[in-house]
Amino acid sequence: MRRGATTSSSAATDAGTEASLADPAIPPPVVRLLERLWQAGHAAYVVGGSLRDALLDRPAADWDLTTDARPDRLLELFPDAVYENRFGTVVVRRGGVAYEITTFRIDHEYADHRRPHRVEFGDRIEDDLARRDFTVNAMAWGRPTGDTGVGAPLSGPELVDPFDGRADTDAGLLRAVGDPHERFTEDALRMVRAVRLAATLDFTIEPGTLAAISDQAHLAAHLSGERIAMELEKLLAAPSPSVGLRLMADTGLLAVVLPELEAQRDIPQNKATGDDLLDHTLRTVDAAPVDRPIVRLAALLHDIGKPATLADGHFHGHETVGAEMAGDLLRRLRMPRAISERVSLLVRHHMFTYEGTWSDTAVRRFITRIGRHALEELFELREADSIGSGIPADSFGLAELRRRVADQLESQVALGLSDLAINGDDLITELGLTTGPAIGLILDELLDRVIADPDLNDRPTLLVLAQSMLSQDG
Ligand code: ATP
Ligand code: MG
Repeated sequence: MRRGATTSSSAATDAGTEASLADPAIPPPVVRLLERLWQAGHAAYVVGGSLRDALLDRPAADWDLTTDARPDRLLELFPDAVYENRFGTVVVRRGGVAYEITTFRIDHEYADHRRPHRVEFGDRIEDDLARRDFTVNAMAWGRPTGDTGVGAPLSGPELVDPFDGRADTDAGLLRAVGDPHERFTEDALRMVRAVRLAATLDFTIEPGTLAAISDQAHLAAHLSGERIAMELEKLLAAPSPSVGLRLMADTGLLAVVLPELEAQRDIPQNKATGDDLLDHTLRTVDAAPVDRPIVRLAALLHDIGKPATLADGHFHGHETVGAEMAGDLLRRLRMPRAISERVSLLVRHHMFTYEGTWSDTAVRRFITRIGRHALEELFELREADSIGSGIPADSFGLAELRRRVADQLESQVALGLSDLAINGDDLITELGLTTGPAIGLILDELLDRVIADPDLNDRPTLLVLAQSMLSQDG
């Protein structure tokens, strides 16, 4: 999949034309931002992951620019820009896309194996590149300051590559800039980034860099949940996340960052022979759809309840225990609550069973139990789980259940409280009820009746039913 770039690194061409910048492929809005800075006499470069991706002919996730212009100067040059003080970055929006322009930096004094203590603005692109993590991320493409006098032609844009990142890009190698031990001691996230980038780019980690990760994996314990979560999300969006997860397991990072998964090692599986539970998890993650981040996350966590529940060769109730553990883990990573709740729900229900003898009412109850928005994700999780177990994706009657669920959803029958022909207000105005828990109980019971017999979902009928429920209770 990897494609080496075929461009020459310093195409010295006439200043300012887009054609001269087509190499490497930099999008026109980025070129225009660079030109504005160059014409104003500043050094400006495309830098980091976006340049790496352009050289690899991969779509870049985001375009990063760096310059010697200070933030206040950038705001003068781009009056519509926004200064994000927290990151020291100026953001310019063009055609709905945000471009980050960051002033050259020099890092000082790292504390706690996290971000640098103090960041200073610099004047040299080489200093800015030296603080970056891997050689493939430490290249810049652009022009130095145009201090050659007014009217003098600008020098051609060129690749600034002090750490031979270009060669590593072509060879598909992730190599730390400088001494890997030092760099990982400065910021332990770089180790997580290494395994993540290995999976995203299908790159190999250079042996010295890999050995340093194994030596210093314990430092990852200092990382905040948020920073780990950002890399984990990117890892799960890789074609085969197992590449990175396996590297995490082999280097010891997994034990530090996700000990719940490390605990799956050597837990036997009755599925594919020779596989342990961790092998099964990694297969399941890879089998989950790449464009479904929630399903990938649920696949990663679907069996985390197994090690704790293993008894007599069974994992009784592992989905319930696992749902709790998944929620705890995602809270630790500071994931938004909507995500942790959805993943937890998927883990809790991933062992659902289906029989061809189910009535339509049973299908509707299943839909209500899971919630219609989570159904497709649950089916995708089950498919991935099956593939991860070495059995066909549509085992357990999945295809038939899916069809029957789709039929029910299409027929517009009531499947949730919001589908009922009456609501709590109706109970108050029509039946004189007062606000309180009784209203919820009655609505739940009405929904139950309607799921069993959709014809009941009609205003007067439901009011009569509600009245009879009231008189029974009274
Ligand atoms: P992606 O393509 O997934 O965005 P990326 O390498 O661009 O990958 P970003 O988080 O966008 O990742 O970071 C942009 C650039 O900033 C990197 O390419 C690298 O040069 C630098 N960088 C990011 N994080 C670190 C870090 N922890 N230490 C040193 N440099 C870093
Ligand atoms: Mg990036």
